[in-house]
Amino acid sequence: MKNAQCKKCLNKFYEKEIYTIQQFQYREEPSYKWSMRFFEKLGINEWDSLCEKCMLFYSKESDKKWKESKI
Ligand SMILES: [Zn+2]
Repeated sequence: MKNAQCKKCLNKFYEKEIYTIQQFQYREEPSYKWSMRFFEKLGINEWDSLCEKCMLFYSKESDKKWKESKI
């Protein structure tokens, strides 16, 4: 049963396919602290569920913003 819901696109998907921003802990940069602040502004916390597509989107988006912030 698809009983997980993506915080961003609101699509339903399987629970085993849930992504959370906690996976950014393993990203070398930006730091997880920076990522948390970035997502906080978007209203997303560590326990919010995201689908794979939106996770990928945010991964790229945060990376872009991080690079812009360093200029
Ligand atoms: Zn989504």
